[in-house]
Amino acid sequence: MDDLVIGIDLGTTNSCVSLYTEGKTKILENAFDGRITPSFIYFSPDGEIVIGEHGVKMSVHKPENGIYEMKRLVGRQFDDPELQKSLKYFPFKVTASPSNLPLVSVKQKSAICKKSPQELYTVLLKALKKYTEAKLEETINKAVITVPAYFNVAQKEVTLEAAKDAGFTVLKLLNEPTAAALVYYFENDTDKTHRSLVYDLGGGTFDVAVLEKRFENIQVLCVAGDTQLGGHDIDTCLLNYVYRILRTQYGYDPEASSDDKRRLRLKCEDAKKELSTVESTVITINGMVSKHPKIKISLTKDEFEAMTDHLFKKTIDILDECLRSSKISKRSIQEIILCGGSTRIPKIQKLVSDYFDGKQLNKFVNTSECVAEGAALQAAMLSTNRKQKIDELRIVNVLPLSIGTWGHSLCHDMSFLIKRGTKLPTSVTHVFVNTETDETTFTFDIYEGERLDLRKNRYLGTVLLTDVESAAPFQKK
Ligand code: ADP
Ligand code: MG
Repeated sequence: MDDLVIGIDLGTTNSCVSLYTEGKTKILENAFDGRITPSFIYFSPDGEIVIGEHGVKMSVHKPENGIYEMKRLVGRQFDDPELQKSLKYFPFKVTASPSNLPLVSVKQKSAICKKSPQELYTVLLKALKKYTEAKLEETINKAVITVPAYFNVAQKEVTLEAAKDAGFTVLKLLNEPTAAALVYYFENDTDKTHRSLVYDLGGGTFDVAVLEKRFENIQVLCVAGDTQLGGHDIDTCLLNYVYRILRTQYGYDPEASSDDKRRLRLKCEDAKKELSTVESTVITINGMVSKHPKIKISLTKDEFEAMTDHLFKKTIDILDECLRSSKISKRSIQEIILCGGSTRIPKIQKLVSDYFDGKQLNKFVNTSECVAEGAALQAAMLSTNRKQKIDELRIVNVLPLSIGTWGHSLCHDMSFLIKRGTKLPTSVTHVFVNTETDETTFTFDIYEGERLDLRKNRYLGTVLLTDVESAAPFQKK
């Protein structure tokens, strides 16, 4: 029988694998019965590689060997300002390769080994493949993998290469919000035109998308987001608060020790999660400050919300801008689907609902698993295995980032050829002026991004046109 195709949500913080067979999707647990696997790799000093929850626990006393949030490094140059921001808090070491790409350094068996984000992704994907094969008791080689709607070409390429190295043929890279919407549309089959908004706030990225379903077609109307905004940044706000208290009230600077920094970050994350269900919590710090063996810092939900409000509002601003720039009215949205672990925060739910004038939010889609489930649905649509037979929905996407070239050879303005948000596939006509009249070849560089200064956008490649008719004969006339 033909191969089964699985769906993988390769998240910044957590990854999840799902399979659609015999009419339903199921989550495939990892070797430790976990439905989600932290995207975490621990390189133990004696040479072992431990993935997921166990890796997180083992790294507490050797944080410099616990690698996480690789997704923040993927497809970026070392000097990318966004990447540099992440380096400030990573307990592990990241250096630049000769070609200016980031390399993570870990010490194993007293030797330093350097891993590219792609290699780290491969390690993680290999582990997910192994768990899945053990669960299904068969070899799995084909997958659909989800990526943030906002990922650029380089980030997608690294994802594809890493999956190939892990032994996967990737049938499609699916946008995370589209995956979440697929789950909704499968559970709520309607022939009427239906618009939904997906608000996905995970650990490291924020994605928003508006999708419209008409019969069997799903059209992505707009996407927006921030690849550096998520639960991690919320934890950082709490962490800064704890640092301030330790410094001012206890005369202790935790930032000097990466061990302490990591321990405190995990405690802050726990406190944040608790505050999603209770009104106040206490962060207990044992044995860190010698004169104060037991420190207790209490925190109320109101204090937490005041500290993090600017981040929550930022997501609403992005959402608002996304709707405005695409001229989509709030009222035309029929369903609001929340996904990503951070949407469990009640204040976020309230802000989103308030933005839509008090509209009810969809509570039926599982915020942590829906992206993987959507990937599994898409995988089934692409599968030829008869156990995965499913009604096909056609997904039409939009370009997430504008494409352009040099506007004029003497300045650095970007000339936008295809604007972000354009329905795909698309075609464009552009007239290039060649100053060298007798040349029969012509090259132009292609960039991706929204900045007017082309040098601040991402270079994608150079197009070479040959056999161009020389203008020289016309000039002589
Ligand atoms: P990603 O898509 O980045 O892999 P997830 O969707 O799994 O991430 O979300 C992970 C984030 O959700 C983490 O920052 C985690 O702290 C946060 N999170 C999980 N549960 C809760 C909760 N109950 N309250 C607040 N935040 C939560
Ligand atoms: Mg996610």
